Amino acid sequence: MNAAPSPLDLQSARRPRSAKPAAEPIVPRWTIEQSEELYRINGWGDPYFSINAAGHVTVSPKGDRGGSLDLYELVEALKQRGLPLPILIRFSDILEDRLERLTSCFAKAIARYSYQGSYRGVFPVKCNQERHLVEDLVRFGKPHQFGLEAGSKPELMIALATLNTPGALLICNGYKDRSYIETAMLGQRLGHTPIIVLEQLEEVSLMIEASRRLGIQPILGVRAKLTTKGVGRWGNSAGDRAKFGLRIPEILAVVEQLHQAEMLSCLQLLHFHIGSQISSISVIKDALREASQIYVELASLGANMQYLDVGGGLGVDYDGSKTNFHASKNYSIQNYANDVVAEVKEACAARGLSVPTLISESGRALASHQSVLIFDVLGTSEVRSTEPAPPSETDHAIIRELYDTYQSISISNYQEAFHDAEQFKGEVTSLFNFGYLSLSERAKVENLFWACCAKIIEVVRQEDYVPDDLEDLEKIMASIYYINLSVFQSAPDSWAIDQLFPIMPIHRLNEEPTQRATLADLTCDSDGKIDQFIDLRDVKDLLELHPLQSGQPYYLGMFLTGAYQEIMGNLHNLFGDTNTVHIHLTPKGYQIEHVVKGDTMREVLSYVQYDADDLTEQIRRRSETALQEKHITLKEARLLLQNYSESLSRYTYLS
Ligand SMILES: *Cc1c(COP(=O)(O)O)cnc(C)c1O
Repeated sequence: MNAAPSPLDLQSARRPRSAKPAAEPIVPRWTIEQSEELYRINGWGDPYFSINAAGHVTVSPKGDRGGSLDLYELVEALKQRGLPLPILIRFSDILEDRLERLTSCFAKAIARYSYQGSYRGVFPVKCNQERHLVEDLVRFGKPHQFGLEAGSKPELMIALATLNTPGALLICNGYKDRSYIETAMLGQRLGHTPIIVLEQLEEVSLMIEASRRLGIQPILGVRAKLTTKGVGRWGNSAGDRAKFGLRIPEILAVVEQLHQAEMLSCLQLLHFHIGSQISSISVIKDALREASQIYVELASLGANMQYLDVGGGLGVDYDGSKTNFHASKNYSIQNYANDVVAEVKEACAARGLSVPTLISESGRALASHQSVLIFDVLGTSEVRSTEPAPPSETDHAIIRELYDTYQSISISNYQEAFHDAEQFKGEVTSLFNFGYLSLSERAKVENLFWACCAKIIEVVRQEDYVPDDLEDLEKIMASIYYINLSVFQSAPDSWAIDQLFPIMPIHRLNEEPTQRATLADLTCDSDGKIDQFIDLRDVKDLLELHPLQSGQPYYLGMFLTGAYQEIMGNLHNLFGDTNTVHIHLTPKGYQIEHVVKGDTMREVLSYVQYDADDLTEQIRRRSETALQEKHITLKEARLLLQNYSESLSRYTYLS
């Protein structure tokens, strides 16, 4: 157990909103527009997420094409159906809308530049392998001959079985052994169009042998290591030291080997991938220019070039700032499509070559928006500051002085007051350590100190400018909100690579969020926290939240989590998969298409090789012994066993 206190022994301690006398009429001074601006929902959420007049987040799964639902009410309805939080909600309509957007942007670019070729996107399965999602994607992609990309053997298994769109491409990437290559080639016999992308020199001879053995002429591609480096967190997918891909001399060696084997006509595709979440359009342009030149050169060497595959990298604007910050991107999908089409067209025109079919492997841009993770707050821990009582004559001088400081705090002296309060607190620690102050005296001083801080913060928040030395005050006074979630399981990138996801309450958005907080999850790990949040500029350390109301749930949503998070999650502290539902908008409302129940404790324990029945039997035997030795009563033993065995079939999260 690391530092974080257990949420279980928390009394939810709230700072009283002292300013409001009970008789005052409730005038909603805080507007939903203020919430929109604060949480930047129009920046990252448009056109799918917004706030309604009731102060709830609404979802428009079909984007601009109409229809919406109230996310808060949906969560309540799911709870009524026995689906406790945390819950992952997938909106299949959003996935469809994203796919339509991507393909229509390419269609527009192709029309705009009179490009004499077509676009055939593929979805990289690694981005979200969940069956319902991949099946939906294949179905939505049918009209556009949208295909799949496999980066490993298991993903190839998924793609071969799931893809059933005539003419759609099946791009085969990743490390390949003989059985991978054979399976991919035999896919042709099932009516697939597999393209085997050579990423390592050793794969060439394996592939030539397999082709001879099976008598199948494969369609081949090469993955080039570009000099252009992606920037940011995933930037090292390119460059000379990248893990995958062939350098130019190696590409020439492949051409030579294929030529020797009389298979050069099989080489039809050039692929590159400079990394995920490329924030800057200029990086993409550089890569396109380099790749287009390699493409035309390959054609002039006699390869039968037909396809240019620009890989992934199409970014998502997680913070809504439209900048080249790592959590954002400074271009639209349309800009991206225009640049791909224009750059490739220009390079081919210069050589009098016919243009290739364009392929992108956009995963993040397709899958991120469709899932929302909803979780509740179990309790909070905050610095309590109650109105301090005036000191008596007998109190230590330092207490009386600090009380005077407290009383004097105003807009004109708050900075000085803060320094005084800090100094008194420091002195008190020394006095206490030398035995001159009792524990209760020290408690009085600490209470007074926090009361000073709370009063100073109220003043500081009204000021436009915060003096440097008071900047940390908000952090010192911040609350911790304990969330019913495992960051390791549900948002691993938030933990592993500090990825930012928009997080906000999904209700009470017509109320001012008066608290500033960081989030701590259920795990006992001090890393199981979220203390970086999206902001217009850079990031912020604290999230504005509402004080908890007793007996009322408080729901937070983490948005844009549909790419990469689900599969990489791990069982830290044995918190398992969350409940998942798929929601489809209907003319009358919505329909719950699939419910995937989250892991039970029994399941999670079996992943680490514990058998739930064996465990129960152990407990039964030990209770039996304790009973004989009269350490436990029959009633207690029965309660223990009942709780134990019931827990095993329950959700791993708190209810
Ligand atoms: C990860 C990956 C992708 C997907 O990238 P996104 O940025 O999510 O679109 C595409 N192609 C390859 C080869 C990849 O490794």
